[in-house]
Amino acid sequence: MAKKYEGPAIGIDLGTTYSCVAVWQQRNNRAEIIHNDQGNRTTPSVVAFTDSLRLIGNAAKNQAASNPTNTIFDAKRLIGRKFSDSIIRKDIKLWPFKVIPGADDNPKILVKYKGKEKCFVAEEISSMILSKMQEIAEKFLELPVKNAVITVPAYFNDSQRKATKDAGIIAGLNVMRIINEPTAAALAYGIQKRGNFVVGKRNVFIFDLGGGTFDVSLLTLKDDSFEVKATAGDTHLGGEDFDNKMVSHFVNELKRKNNVDISLNPKALRKLRTACERAKRALSYDIEATIDIDAICQGIDFCSSITRAKFERLNMDLFEKCMEIVRSCLRDAYMDQSMVHEIVLVGGSSRIPKVRKLLQDFFKGRDLCMSINPDEAVAYGAAVQAALLIDGIKNVPNLVLRDITPLSLGIWTKGDVMSVVIPKNTPIPIKMTEDRCKTSVDNQLGVSIHVYEGERIKASENNLLGLFRLFVPPAPRGLCIKVCFAIDADGILNVTAEEETTGNKSEITITNDNRRLSTQEIERMIQEAEKFKVEDMKFQEKARAVNALEDYLYKTSKVMEDNSVSSMLAPADKMKIDSAIMNGKSLIDNHGNQHNETYVFVDFLKELEIIFESSLNKINKGFKRKFEQ
Ligand code: AMP
Repeated sequence: MAKKYEGPAIGIDLGTTYSCVAVWQQRNNRAEIIHNDQGNRTTPSVVAFTDSLRLIGNAAKNQAASNPTNTIFDAKRLIGRKFSDSIIRKDIKLWPFKVIPGADDNPKILVKYKGKEKCFVAEEISSMILSKMQEIAEKFLELPVKNAVITVPAYFNDSQRKATKDAGIIAGLNVMRIINEPTAAALAYGIQKRGNFVVGKRNVFIFDLGGGTFDVSLLTLKDDSFEVKATAGDTHLGGEDFDNKMVSHFVNELKRKNNVDISLNPKALRKLRTACERAKRALSYDIEATIDIDAICQGIDFCSSITRAKFERLNMDLFEKCMEIVRSCLRDAYMDQSMVHEIVLVGGSSRIPKVRKLLQDFFKGRDLCMSINPDEAVAYGAAVQAALLIDGIKNVPNLVLRDITPLSLGIWTKGDVMSVVIPKNTPIPIKMTEDRCKTSVDNQLGVSIHVYEGERIKASENNLLGLFRLFVPPAPRGLCIKVCFAIDADGILNVTAEEETTGNKSEITITNDNRRLSTQEIERMIQEAEKFKVEDMKFQEKARAVNALEDYLYKTSKVMEDNSVSSMLAPADKMKIDSAIMNGKSLIDNHGNQHNETYVFVDFLKELEIIFESSLNKINKGFKRKFEQ
């Protein structure tokens, strides 16, 4: 039985490149995508640090080219991974910001913030983006919002799921559930189909090609119930990879034509990457796009163009990779193309015409469903799931969701053999027991349980999730150990081992192994996140006070420049005003000085108002009115 929560609840699609937030609206029985303060329905998953402030979303993305080393994107690629992970080693080469190894091989992002070096883990950066999404929702709902459902790629492993949940906790959210992105998209699709013509069983194929990840899922939809049959994907395949191919293409062109190499110039690369992403989007509608960058480096204005055909050739290997994953998902579900009734497109990159064409050809000309917005379907579904978990929300279609495990889970057994306890694509939540595990020598004092995930037969070639030890009584070899794997609705794994004659038990929730954040670390990060929020608010207050003073100084200066006013003022009053304006301007010039706190500007403005207005009142009330206009 699902746990019920109280209060408003949101669904957050925490994307690699963009994030989106939605909420279920009872008044019109549907989920609503929430606009950010720029009026956009998606927000860049970008955080930037400057000498004076922290920026999140559009503000961070907009200054990326001028501050590349302190503008962090792609945190989702780092989350829950080790520094030594080969994928991370490759990514680091492409990022303009610095990533260093931290304790326990945890990657740390190094930035300069307020003049000092500071390290963040990916969970902290993601928590900042989640806080932003929470803030967007709170502004819209005019209510505090704590409850959230957050989505992750179906292919995220246990460690990445847990790390995403930690990011939510650091942001101060109550993460009710972590759900798979394609499942969320299927929920959105299912909601739209309700009341339409769904008769009998429908097999729905979700094709989700986003900015950084690729996910496919095959679901069976029957009445109000969804069952995920198979999932497949690649956590490192998406729009950014297509951008990178284009970036390399133009880096080579610059070398050839202009004799400059920008491959080690983060600022120039950032400019080029932004232009390439724009061109790529244009190529979904036009057959040619231009790249036009003023002063890319060494004063060179770079102007070039690329055709859709060239873009397709550059990326054909990646598009083929997508199709291979589509095929493997169908194989895992024991289905062929003809058994699929609907193909739902999700993720911004599913707009690429070549991708659509390959998919359509593969599914033998079947129409692709484009009725749901590919950028918003995941957040929409997450909001539906969030509403289903809240007590008292009426009229949410009670869709029942059965998710599955994306990877096989098992334990190391003698000879480095992976003994699978829960096979890949098993519906969750689930509890399964393995009782073939035995001690291998006489009077063995304990057994080490190594928990792995992956599809390789050789255990050590899979991903080690954690290990723990169970003490056993002295006995001849062959003593039976019962190992139980339980996966909850969030996909988080708990493993217990028990020796039945003594009842000795030991367990591990794959949360506290050394790759993860400890409770103390999370606690520290929560406090830091609060501190950042307070600092940001302080900064905003100061900026408001500085602006108000600057505005007032501008107006008073204009009045003083007007001879018809200043000549009528008593000389002492004029001197007082002139000197106050001068002091005010110098205060503004030094507003970056940390000692000048908000109250200094507020008090100065009050004083200036008194000086100026009392002097004006002496000569003519009409001037005051004119000034106030
Ligand atoms: P998502 O993670 O689903 O928000 O997808 C973001 C990715 O979709 C980014 O890499 C975008 O560049 C890409 N994208 C968005 N619109 C288009 C488009 N019209 N054509 C190609 N790619 C797009």
